[in-house]
This record gives sequence, C-alpha cells and structure tokens, in this order.
Amino acid sequence: MQCFIPKQKIDSVHSLDLKKLKDAGIRGIIFDIDNTLESHRVAEPSEKVLSLIENVKNEGFSICLISNGKIPRVELFNRALKLDAIGDAKKPAKKNLKRAMQLLGTSAKETALVGDQIFTDVYGGNRMGFYTVLVDPIEQIENKFFYVKRFFERIILKKIKE
Ligand SMILES: [Mg+2]
Repeated sequence: MQCFIPKQKIDSVHSLDLKKLKDAGIRGIIFDIDNTLESHRVAEPSEKVLSLIENVKNEGFSICLISNGKIPRVELFNRALKLDAIGDAKKPAKKNLKRAMQLLGTSAKETALVGDQIFTDVYGGNRMGFYTVLVDPIEQIENKFFYVKRFFERIILKKIKE
C-alpha cells in the first residue's frame, strides 16, 4: 500500500510549496501535464501556468514535463514553455521516469514528481524513490475504467487522511 501513498497531497499545482521542497533537498521537479497543469482538454498552457513554471524556474529548480498523452499533444503544450518534455511516457513504467531524472540532472532523492494519478504518477514516482506530490485532478477523464479506478483511489485516499 505504501507505494501508492504520496509524500504530499495538495489541492492544486498552484499550491505547491517550493520552500518545503527545497528544504527536503529537491532540486528538480517533474510535472505531469493532463489534469495536473491543465485540463486534458486544454491544448496550451494558460498565463497562470506559464507564470507558475517561470516562478519554479526562478527559484532554481530544473523542470521536466512527462505525460502518457500523445507526443504531438505534449509538443504543442510545451511550445511556449520550452522545457524538457517526454510524451507517450507509459508511466508508471520506470524507463521514461528515469530519463526525466537524467534530463533534470538530479538524483532520485533530489527529484519530485507532481501529478494527479495515484496509479501512474504516485506509484511510478515512489518506485523510483522520488518525492511524490499528488494534486486533485483538474477534471476527471471518465472512461470505462473510471469507476473501478475511483473505487481503489478512494481506499487509498482514506489511508492518506489517517
Ligand atoms: Mg494526469
């Protein structure tokens, strides 16, 4: 169960406490895109997200985007941001999480992963030894697995509150 528990749970990426991350020794942050930075329906980052990323950079963190979404979606989203970005990442598989860390130039302990999904972002990040931050999803994607996933997520979210 521990592998599904994030280090931190916050309501939104905009509530991310950068000082707290710094104090924990974090130097690089991997951001999920869909429903973490923007809704999966939003093709390009809003002003709010652009300034968030600018702020994170100015605080001295390296940044990488990682998404299980299609590569063209990630490229378009990253057009204005010009960050390191990995699309079609197949999280929670380790391969691209490791690649993201290499792009950041950090060790696992110095790496945070911020995402909205317990079974891809938190689980993937935890098995890499990253500092995991779970955000409330901006908008839920409702497909045929949605209710099953929600069921298991609720069990885990209850554990986090304990
Ligand atoms: Mg997501």
